[in-house]
Amino acid sequence: MTESLVQIKNSLPTEVNLLAVSKSHQASSIRSFFHKGQLDFGESRLQEALPKINDLSDLNGICWHFVGRLQSNKVRGVVKNFNVIHSLHSLALSERIARISEEEGRHPKVFLQIKLREDIAKVGFSKEELLSVWPKLMELPNINIIGLMTIAPITLELNERKKLFRDCRDLANKLKLKECSMGMSNDWREAVEAGATWIRVGSLLFGKRLK
Ligand SMILES: *Cc1c(COP(=O)(O)O)cnc(C)c1O
Repeated sequence: MTESLVQIKNSLPTEVNLLAVSKSHQASSIRSFFHKGQLDFGESRLQEALPKINDLSDLNGICWHFVGRLQSNKVRGVVKNFNVIHSLHSLALSERIARISEEEGRHPKVFLQIKLREDIAKVGFSKEELLSVWPKLMELPNINIIGLMTIAPITLELNERKKLFRDCRDLANKLKLKECSMGMSNDWREAVEAGATWIRVGSLLFGKRLK
């Protein structure tokens, strides 16, 4: 079942933003969401996103967010084509993004991806790791760290997810970061209750992914 954009937007507090995750969906569907007032779109693969970004370059004000696992050889492409990066998961990658952003004259907004529970399927800073590299991250040029991002392990029950989202919010507060990118189609309500400022919703808006 797909929920309408308006339904989701209407149930969000004003400080919570909706990121429409359009991976595997066509440029034409993105265009129609844009015309309904949705400006922020998330993609997780550079190769797949580039032709869509190109196709939609006539849409004034469209904002592209990279949400996928970031590989070091894709950094330049991501920095050049995306406005926001949600998935910065290591110091080395952060240094690389800073250097390339400087070279390209870009100032991407970034979320640091954190992993607060064991999850072999996901990458991310642990809490301890993040706290220890935080001073170094703060010194990097050209990257504007705006918040934390997390993905709940699929095995976690909703109540436990909500706890995890609260932990993410607490850590963001501790670091004086305003934004938390958390919650997807099946747990966005819990994320909002726990203090998300960005929810990343794909299938609930666009329908089942094509691949
Ligand atoms: C695909 C994806 C989403 C959206 O997932 P849905 O369950 O379809 O809402 C959100 N965040 C990330 C990082 C994703 O890769």
